[in-house]
Amino acid sequence: MTTVSFVDVPGMRRWIAEQGAEQIIGDMVTALEGDFRRWPQFDKSPRHAVHTREGVMELMPTSDGDEYGFKYVNGHPKNPLRGFQTVTAFGVLAQVDNGYPTFIAEMTLLTALRTAATSAMAARWLARRDASTMAMIGTGSQAEFQALGFRAALGIDRLRVWDTDPAAMQKLVRNLEPLGFEVTVASSAADAVLGADVITTCTADKTNATVLRDADVVPGVHINAIGGDCPGKTELDQAILERASVFVEYPEQTRVEGEIQAFGPEFPVTELWTVVAGEALGRTSADEITVFDSVGFAIEDFTALRFVRDAVRGTSYEAALDLVAEPSDPKDLFAMVTPAQVREPVAAVH
Ligand code: NAD
Repeated sequence: MTTVSFVDVPGMRRWIAEQGAEQIIGDMVTALEGDFRRWPQFDKSPRHAVHTREGVMELMPTSDGDEYGFKYVNGHPKNPLRGFQTVTAFGVLAQVDNGYPTFIAEMTLLTALRTAATSAMAARWLARRDASTMAMIGTGSQAEFQALGFRAALGIDRLRVWDTDPAAMQKLVRNLEPLGFEVTVASSAADAVLGADVITTCTADKTNATVLRDADVVPGVHINAIGGDCPGKTELDQAILERASVFVEYPEQTRVEGEIQAFGPEFPVTELWTVVAGEALGRTSADEITVFDSVGFAIEDFTALRFVRDAVRGTSYEAALDLVAEPSDPKDLFAMVTPAQVREPVAAVH
């Protein structure tokens, strides 16, 4: 019998808590760099998005020729007001050879890890080496993971945070101070970015917002813009992008979903993988303003799924699912549903 390895929410929680989120994110940066270096090998397409009044539901597929993967993810910025999360996700790996699924995992937690790892990887190439303070605008679900990613990759442990919801800022202080971060709660976005070497914007609002004004951005800053990831949903003052060097995951997707959606197809961007692969330069001077216009791309989820799959193999974090119907005669699927073949008696239907 072919079984599919499955990591559910309790398994993922235990794995992260026992291994440590910061350690996992740090190791995932290395795995991501490996896959970004072999970027041309992947089958790539912009994700498939279904937009509704409340949010978006997306499918993100890719393959490296040996394995195939996809993530289902939603984005519903008003969800927290109703007690739901903005982003939830799950993902699947399959083998290309016969198309059978091999691995399924919850990806709400895993997306937070992979988004932090991707941000941290980008910052390693784009932020100044002496960066020590990060401003965080938006302190919701992703925020603590982002902070851990920047500490793992760059050693940043000083945070200046701003969120329109004071409770969200207090939650971050509660979660991160015991982990050794020095957190300053700011009085506005402009206050938060004072003296910061890196600025992470991580808000959720389905609008072309300006959570960071051009006037507040000083030379030398690296901006990790992750909340603008949908048509009509951006965070940065356009003038910032005009004077910055902008780095993206997959231009065909980012030009539709990212901060650069306001500009035409000629707007100059550098694909992050070319920097990681040594084919293009990242930061070139201490005064340059760099922007990682992150939207989240399928290859990052593929990396994250394979990373977890390999890490949990043979452990109690995974379970076996009987997911693939396999008749002994591959052409006789019907035999599987004849009462004589079904071992357990079928419950009577009233
Ligand atoms: P969340 O809803 O948990 O947190 C968002 C926070 O932003 C909330 O605390 C909210 O109060 C705050 N906020 C909203 N508008 C603000 C403003 N103008 N100024 C300051 N704070 C403001 O959402 P989350 O799960 O943390 O996700 C954050 C964003 O990141 C979302 O937009 C999501 O779509 C995006 N995201 C991107 C990626 C990626 O790969 N780029 C991955 C995951 C999530």
